[in-house]
Amino acid sequence: MRWSQSHIYTLKEAPSDAEIPSHKLMIRAGLIKKLAPGLYTYGPLALRAIRKFENIIRQELDSRGGTEILMPIVHPRELWEETNRWEEMGAGLLKFKNRNEHWFCLGATHEEAVVDFVRNDVKSYKDLPKNIYQVQTKYRDEIRPRFGLMRGREFIMKDAYTFDADQASALKSYDVMYNAYKAIFDRLGVKYRIVQADAGNIGGSQTHEFQLLADAGEDSLLVSDTTDFAANIEVCPAIDSIAHVSHEAPKEIEKFATPGLKTIADLSKSTGVQEKDLVKTLFFSSNDRTNPKDTSLKPICVLLRGSDELNPIKLKNVLKLTNAPLMLTDAEVREVSGAHPGSCGPVGLKIPIYMDTGVQGLKNVIVGANEDGFHLKNVNFPKDFQATQIVDIRMAKAGDKCPESNGKLQAFRGIEVGHVFYLGKKYSEKMKATFLDSQGKAQAFEMGCYGIGVSRTVQACIEQNHDQDGIVWPQAIAPFDVHICLLDTKDPNAVEVCLKIEKELVAKGLDVLIDDRDERPGFKFKDADLLGMPYRIVIGKKGLEQNEVELVIRRTKEVSKVSPDVVSSLVKRA
Ligand code: ATP
Ligand code: MG
Repeated sequence: MRWSQSHIYTLKEAPSDAEIPSHKLMIRAGLIKKLAPGLYTYGPLALRAIRKFENIIRQELDSRGGTEILMPIVHPRELWEETNRWEEMGAGLLKFKNRNEHWFCLGATHEEAVVDFVRNDVKSYKDLPKNIYQVQTKYRDEIRPRFGLMRGREFIMKDAYTFDADQASALKSYDVMYNAYKAIFDRLGVKYRIVQADAGNIGGSQTHEFQLLADAGEDSLLVSDTTDFAANIEVCPAIDSIAHVSHEAPKEIEKFATPGLKTIADLSKSTGVQEKDLVKTLFFSSNDRTNPKDTSLKPICVLLRGSDELNPIKLKNVLKLTNAPLMLTDAEVREVSGAHPGSCGPVGLKIPIYMDTGVQGLKNVIVGANEDGFHLKNVNFPKDFQATQIVDIRMAKAGDKCPESNGKLQAFRGIEVGHVFYLGKKYSEKMKATFLDSQGKAQAFEMGCYGIGVSRTVQACIEQNHDQDGIVWPQAIAPFDVHICLLDTKDPNAVEVCLKIEKELVAKGLDVLIDDRDERPGFKFKDADLLGMPYRIVIGKKGLEQNEVELVIRRTKEVSKVSPDVVSSLVKRA
């Protein structure tokens, strides 16, 4: 491709709303352009990277029995009502009416649509298993779209769905997809980890996320220093490396005045008790508003060590909710406890109490007295209050014990690029999608679903692979393998050599971009660094007088001067 005939516009500076390196670089390199928040046009270079990644995905899925289809992006309301997700998906699902006053939504995911597709066709166990996928634009009305393609409103996803006759074969299908994903991300040549994860509102019992490692990643991962254990912090079990067990004898409760002390830090300072030995009391509503008609508060109380953080996903799962529970307002806390949140504690509360496992080893603790400006000391479980459940609801952290060994957990940041779920019959039962088994009995399909954020992955690759000068593409998805800087565009010999080299490279199956603009060499080199194709070949009149062209490896910046006759033989395919 000739730069002069294409549509590539680079920028010196990134716009101020671009916060992370990959977002800045994508804008500066002219890969994407914002139409509105979360909505981007993919320029020619980004689209080439996207298509290359899609094709890697297609090859790996097709070779494992996947079949590609394409489902509509607009879905009727009735379809989503079959699974109750019309309500459950909340505001993330963009809903609208057509001219006939019929409600529709934009597909945020396609479990419903694919089940409808399959239930009409597959009647017998003899037709199973099925592995169906599509590469398509999704729309999610994200509250805060940010970081360019990382969290868009519109984005490209590859979503796949498997249908099996029984659980054993469904788990086999899951393994096939797990291995396909491994092959896909291995081919990208990027650093990634596979971690245990939460199923979110997709549902299902077994699930793994594929996370590209990058400091700007939104996800916190905890990885064992001794075993293969790796989990998203959302679901990572919290196990102290040093047990917090006190052997003090229980003492009698005492009330004491704590005027103006509202936080754990205040209380620790004033009492001299370390935060890890204090207990904090939090209040939530266990009504997650999935049924808009039910507005009841259903308050619950949570107890944590003062130094720990609540893990809302664990609490959501303990309470068997669809969405993470909301914290009560100060006024609601007062209604439930009689006091300001800073003076609350479990003694005398009439609502369910969920006590984190980290609290159970503490004795003679200080908690709020449920009376403004007062706390209680020497409070002991179970003498002074009861717990509905003692359960792990805190955030695990670096240094905690590995759940599978005596090793410790280490922290990483990750970008979720893929997610595999075993779903069981969650969707097929609700949607009455059945087949006849070998006994002639109707059975609901066993399902799995599997997503890869195609557009997000392309940006995540840049987030992991760049330097101060620009992008360093992994060659597997580089828009072009080779970037030729043709310096003397009016010199017939230089042009001829350039076209000859291009021809040789193309014959090897390589993609070539020729910068044929009438610009200074320094300007072209800066743009070549910014665009980040794996190989750069510099062809100029001066060099050719010595029978030389320059070959530059983008990642290492290694430069070699070679004869134009051999340069194409030195460029390798991905
Ligand atoms: P997240 O936790 O980041 O919101 P998710 O868990 O809701 O993502 P899934 O439903 O698992 O996402 O979707 C499959 C894949 O689609 C994700 O692994 C991710 O790579 C991609 N994806 C999800 N939401 C977005 C988005 N807003 N923009 C770009 N890619 C996305
Ligand atoms: Mg996910």
